[in-house]
Amino acid sequence: MESVVLSIGIDSQAGIQPLLLLPKSRSIVRRMNSSITDTKLLSILDKVMQDKRLSVEDGVALFESDDLAGVGCLADMARDQRVGDKVYWVRNLHINYTDICAKGCKFCAFARILPEDGYVYSHEQTAREIGDYPGHLAEAHIVGGCNGKIPWEYYPEMIRTIKRVSPETHVKAFTMVELDFFARKFKRTIQEVLDELLEAGLDACPGGGAEIFSTRLHSYMFRHKAGPERWLEVAEICHEQGVKTNATMLFGHIETFHERAVHLDKLRELQDKTGGFQAFIPLAYHADNNDLEVEHGPGAQDILKTVAVSRLMLDNFKHIKAYWILMGERLAQISLVFGANDIDGTVMQEKIYHRAGAPTAMAVTPSRLRRLIKSAGRIPMERDALYQSPAWADKDNRSERALIPEPVAV
Ligand code: SF4
Repeated sequence: MESVVLSIGIDSQAGIQPLLLLPKSRSIVRRMNSSITDTKLLSILDKVMQDKRLSVEDGVALFESDDLAGVGCLADMARDQRVGDKVYWVRNLHINYTDICAKGCKFCAFARILPEDGYVYSHEQTAREIGDYPGHLAEAHIVGGCNGKIPWEYYPEMIRTIKRVSPETHVKAFTMVELDFFARKFKRTIQEVLDELLEAGLDACPGGGAEIFSTRLHSYMFRHKAGPERWLEVAEICHEQGVKTNATMLFGHIETFHERAVHLDKLRELQDKTGGFQAFIPLAYHADNNDLEVEHGPGAQDILKTVAVSRLMLDNFKHIKAYWILMGERLAQISLVFGANDIDGTVMQEKIYHRAGAPTAMAVTPSRLRRLIKSAGRIPMERDALYQSPAWADKDNRSERALIPEPVAV
């Protein structure tokens, strides 16, 4: 292979020499031909060029770097090498079926402790929301509180209700925390819980509830629900039973960069073993209406850098999601050049992050999602909950005509 000397954009006054590399392609060389100004990133650049795994220490160095453009450039190169230019979006709907939960996580703005202060969806309400979705609905994303008053039968029946109203809709339901809660409350194994949910029509699981894999923060912030070891154990059981799941990380509160890098490393380790994770979603902390004494969540730079480091560390994850509900449309769009290749979907009726202060709209139209992706220079790909292309992909315009509120600019 021809060797190429890269000009890596470092001030020649600083005495840094151009780097001799054996690039995989000239397009990669073009992409790298400017941006890195932090010399500490050079060894990481070398690893990325050779597709070598980054260490936890590399992750910390990336988080600590002030060279946002350089970190983004590395992540964009990794994205290009691993998954190309396609960016995924989905016609989806969120159902937060109950907000009653006594787990008392300090960062949570969603939960209501007393039943009289909260709600539980009836199956009729779930059926109505699914039936009211304008046009084809690819994915119902279902997450709720750990509500001790709901009987077991409610959960499989909720799935059956959705499948009755819309058989084509994938049901992506219940985080590892909810599955663990079901197993403990109803004295079943996780396998038994999954068996019944699968029989009812479960297609996949969402990735929430992981928070941050740190024993220190588990005992301080969310000690009454599944901790790091149990979250990973439940995810492993899901994967063993053929259930695909996502993974998340809540960041920008009181965690350290090292804790973030360890979190990514643990996910990567499990993915090596099972291959069952579909997407990773970094969740930016929102500071409103909760008991954690942190004045504000992460800024734009930290959010972009965390997307980028996720892409770089998680070398065995295909999809890194820029969740527009949390970060806003514009930042989600910029994330597409910081390693992300999924922008989530139409959403509608999300409650968890809006109660925590997310100023974004409740929904966006498919055409707006496509426009966001295209204007970032990427190729929009409509998907279902399993990252397949649905039969109606790009042919259904009914949701464009529905009365979906236009997003608020943030
Ligand atoms: S984060 Fe989830 S488990 Fe924790 S209090 Fe909120 S709803 Fe309950």
